[in-house]
Amino acid sequence: MARNPKHDILFEPIQIGPKTMKNRFYQVPHCIGAGSEKPGTQAGHRGMKAEGGWGAVCTEYCSISPESDDCHRVSARIWDEGDVINLRHMTDSLHKHGALAGIELWYGGAHAPCMESRAVPYGPSAQASEFEYLSYCHEADVDDINHLQNLYVEAAKRAVRAGFDIVYVYGAHSYLPLQFLSKFYNKRTDGYGGSFENRARFWIETLGKVKAAVGHEAAIAARFAVDTLYGVDGVEALDEGVKFVELAGREGVVDLWDLNVGDIAEWGEDAGPSRFYKAGHQRNWTDGAKKAAKVPVLGVSRETSPDDMAARIHEGRLDILGFARPSIADPFIPSKIEQGRYEDIRECIGCNVCISRWEIGGPPMICTQNATANEEYRRGWHPEKFTKTPSKSSVLVVGAGPAGMECARVLGERGYDVHLREAEGEIGGRIRKVVKYPGLAEWGRVVTYRQVQLDKLKNVDVHVGVGKMTADQILDYGADKVVLATGSHWATNGNNFVNHSPVAGIDASLPYVCTPEQLLMENKPVGDNVLVIDGDGYFTGVSLAEYLADRGKKVKILTALGGIAPYTHFTLEAPNLHRMMYEKGIHEITSHWLEKVEPGKATAYYLYRDGYKRNAGPKTGDLPRRAGTDVVELPFDTIVVATGRICNDSLWRELSARRSEWEKKEVQAIYQAGDCYAPGLIAQAIFEGHRIAREFESKNPQRAQPWIRERQVWGHETFPKITDREVIG
Ligand code: SF4
Repeated sequence: MARNPKHDILFEPIQIGPKTMKNRFYQVPHCIGAGSEKPGTQAGHRGMKAEGGWGAVCTEYCSISPESDDCHRVSARIWDEGDVINLRHMTDSLHKHGALAGIELWYGGAHAPCMESRAVPYGPSAQASEFEYLSYCHEADVDDINHLQNLYVEAAKRAVRAGFDIVYVYGAHSYLPLQFLSKFYNKRTDGYGGSFENRARFWIETLGKVKAAVGHEAAIAARFAVDTLYGVDGVEALDEGVKFVELAGREGVVDLWDLNVGDIAEWGEDAGPSRFYKAGHQRNWTDGAKKAAKVPVLGVSRETSPDDMAARIHEGRLDILGFARPSIADPFIPSKIEQGRYEDIRECIGCNVCISRWEIGGPPMICTQNATANEEYRRGWHPEKFTKTPSKSSVLVVGAGPAGMECARVLGERGYDVHLREAEGEIGGRIRKVVKYPGLAEWGRVVTYRQVQLDKLKNVDVHVGVGKMTADQILDYGADKVVLATGSHWATNGNNFVNHSPVAGIDASLPYVCTPEQLLMENKPVGDNVLVIDGDGYFTGVSLAEYLADRGKKVKILTALGGIAPYTHFTLEAPNLHRMMYEKGIHEITSHWLEKVEPGKATAYYLYRDGYKRNAGPKTGDLPRRAGTDVVELPFDTIVVATGRICNDSLWRELSARRSEWEKKEVQAIYQAGDCYAPGLIAQAIFEGHRIAREFESKNPQRAQPWIRERQVWGHETFPKITDREVIG
């Protein structure tokens, strides 16, 4: 199938400084947890996008000096020749497919905690970071400013040696150049502070020096937050946002603008979760700067619709489409549009689970929609290619939630004869419940994509509405192998992580106790005053609270955790979720848990009510500290309990107990995937379903095969060597 001609504009080449980009698909810098230390993962992930048709692909933010070290988070680094070698592997993997390689040169100022390097960063003024507490910078004097600009220049030269075609001087997300530009950070009174021209000087000069050094070989890009969303205290889109683009245009120091909004402390205003921001949410903010720009402009907004992408260019609002999350969820978007395979696009759901891994620091990025993201190198997974099975055996997959859908899809792609059986009338499992929460409708794309793919696979039979299968039905089904993907449910008795026990008085069969399933799927009646109990810490409790507040209920939410939904801090949803709770009058009670529940009343206790020191000496049968007895009583009409999730594993337990019958019934093996094995993120359930299907011929796919670990191997050369130091004291 050919692409629709209305999308032709997306495939027109465009000149960026001395480079030509083959089309308008640009992967903006985004983190994956690989940096320069995991060159295989870095090249594997970015190279896959080049194979998928992207015209340009960038690194994540790339530190130019140990003075800007973001450890515990993982940035790329271009500090020395070792980094040049490692990043060269990435650029080679892009050039092989005709994509340009971009590098985002980064100096964080006070936002760089420097936990590995132990260096002290410079900034325009001596300030503490509002993003990274306990992190201060030292005010740069004019000598230091020259030093900083030289760091950018030397890093740019190394970048060109590493094969990069586009070199950023990165100032968005409130990093150093923007700190000089913004009144919020810059309190100087010399030639680099005060007036707009003075505050702009550092960035303009740095861009000019970098351009003079490498501009004949690489395009010079600026990632610029045209509005920091602080009002007059920061940069405003229609004032200094436009003025800076005009000034840089007059100076001729920028070949490409990469525009966005927001700062680093709340960068969910840029990488907006779908809960709050739909595709295209930044366009009104960047339009003014686009009009002022004399060179190509790109911008992100989590676009997944080819019509919208083409419209942005036709309307003159962008020259190039920038993508981060959509390129993770589907590295083959450009190829699929080019080939007219629109229905195969795996759309990002805007959950920001990818970002959560970077925010946590350390672990590699994962993706809810794309289980192969970041597994390209270490597990050798290709998102669009599957090794055909050497055997034609049949597989019964029980349960069509996230794990079951994905497992059946991948087994189908691999050529197995697959039967996917779902008790309910539709596939989707827990997603069918999740999409009912306020703002989470886009998460339904997890199901839509898989429904389309399953429908295409002739060797996959999907049966819905078949009711819960029994062990006898499974053993008699005639399948060679079975994968159970029966999911999990919310505890009906208050079982929780605090004390690993039920809560006295919680029983979902009572009229005033309600589980999420009963509320959303069974329409159990709920009174006016509702107490929501959250023992999960992610989206469920807070979403239930909002769902009920939207229906006019008076809602309190209680959790044992130190804050409501702390995981949403990592997905960048937290600030606006807290604004939402404040605006909708949802009352928060944190660090409390339940002692007991009675009709109309919950008795809760402060988690730290016991004595603050251990009693001297052990005493059998006693708490080793003064036992607190203070409680608070919380009246309610209905208590909604999301205290903990329980595996739906009764089928497995019965089948496991009847293992001796398997051979006679010609069942070779039974595995478990997703929440029925252990409840987790939706991303984890999809990953497990995917992994088991990929490793189905291994001795026991229940247990993961090893992957390539990237780390220094003792006895091999390092960069830099200890002898590269000027001084060995
Ligand atoms: Fe999109 Fe979620 Fe995947 Fe991130 S994790 S790319 S937000 S689907």
